[in-house]
Amino acid sequence: MISLKSAEEIKRMRDAALIAMAAMEKMLAAVEPGVSTAELDDIAYRHIVGAGAKPSFKGYGGFPGTACISVNDEIVHGIPGHRRLKEGDIVSFDTGAYLKGYHSDMARTVGVGKISEEAEMLIRVTKESFFKGVEQAVSGARLNEIGKAVEKHARAYGLGVVTEFIGHGIGRDLHEDPEVPNYDTGRRGPVMRPGLVLAVEPMLTLGTHKVVIAPNEWTASTKDGSLSAHYENTIVITQDGPCDILTLA
Ligand code: MG
Repeated sequence: MISLKSAEEIKRMRDAALIAMAAMEKMLAAVEPGVSTAELDDIAYRHIVGAGAKPSFKGYGGFPGTACISVNDEIVHGIPGHRRLKEGDIVSFDTGAYLKGYHSDMARTVGVGKISEEAEMLIRVTKESFFKGVEQAVSGARLNEIGKAVEKHARAYGLGVVTEFIGHGIGRDLHEDPEVPNYDTGRRGPVMRPGLVLAVEPMLTLGTHKVVIAPNEWTASTKDGSLSAHYENTIVITQDGPCDILTLA
């Protein structure tokens, strides 16, 4: 069931989003060769808890981290740990904060030091595909328009579009209806209405869309070992005009 949020609920979600954004900024600022993913996760944990919120992901389905930190061919749900970042890696961070009963959710991918031109393109096009998608996120439009626009942009660059993981509604629960695929489902999907809050999160690859799950039962990587990038924000459908992006400064 899709729940539309009131102005008061959206205000709370904006507050939760501000905390997630600041935690993300701190993690990104600490990215350098030699830092471990656990150290980066701890930065996010300390920020979120220090701000009086809770990490949305920690304990969700048993996930141990504050952030999912996924390196290179890892797409999503990387578990923070001893792995140390190296020059030339690309790293995806996905995190959220829970405050006053509401969640926020966002993801970014960045390079560690100098990265390949292909990796730069992947990161850039993944971000662009998010914005192409959310241009369609207007009141009265059908949800499938988001995925269609994401997929079209990704395909124009020959990138793989991960289909196994998708965006979602968000609010009192981290994952709510509706599902928000990053591709054309061939079905129009629900009509988007003001107050609909979505996490839109394209995950693109330099190769296949196919996924393998690690023995830890969390970390999803590309089946062919190609690089993957992720870009996500929590957005609100407005009365008129473009959507409001809560997790963007
Ligand atoms: Mg999400």
